[in-house]
Amino acid sequence: MLNIILFGPPGAGKGTQSSKLIEKYGLVHLSTGDVFRYNIKNQTELGIMAKSYIDNGQLVPDEVTNRMVRDFIERNNNDQGFIFDGYPRTIAQGENLEQVLQDFNTEVTSMIALEVDEDELVNRLLERGKTSGRPDDQDESIIRNRFKVYNEETSPLADFYAQKGKFIAVQGKGSIDDIFNNLCKAIDHAN
Ligand code: AMP
Repeated sequence: MLNIILFGPPGAGKGTQSSKLIEKYGLVHLSTGDVFRYNIKNQTELGIMAKSYIDNGQLVPDEVTNRMVRDFIERNNNDQGFIFDGYPRTIAQGENLEQVLQDFNTEVTSMIALEVDEDELVNRLLERGKTSGRPDDQDESIIRNRFKVYNEETSPLADFYAQKGKFIAVQGKGSIDDIFNNLCKAIDHAN
């Protein structure tokens, strides 16, 4: 199985690249942000609970997110593997993912990080907010808060996987196709 964590700050292009990668490698895409947004739209209990965190650019509590991810993996277990987009976002989530995959006799293949600088990202997100309908993409202070959370809580995961020899950084600036080619090279090399 190929289990790839596509890592990087908000707006780095994880969603766009994930769609292309699942097609090429036949993987199942788990975007925790998409799952939350689906639940918000359908006003499920999970969605109602998650909405206030998401609207403020904060993380949904680990316990809730971790349970949701375990359920998703259980329901979508397959032979090819997964691409994790927007998960894990804390060390506790990284530890949970290790455990869940171990329970399914598999493991993370690599964490691949898309590297883009912050000013470029703020502009990308504000631009995306004009058409995405996402309230968390339309307000610069919420966007800045998402970066703060990313820098404080999420970026330590790079070390967590580097220590396991599973961290690969890829330049996230350039055309969608160039970035995609670089990601494919990184995946093929790691696999
Ligand atoms: P994303 O679509 O990945 O940018 O996620 C949008 C928002 O959903 C984030 O700002 C968080 O509020 C929430 N979210 C998504 N994934 C996670 C996660 N792994 N842990 C906690 N909150 C998450």
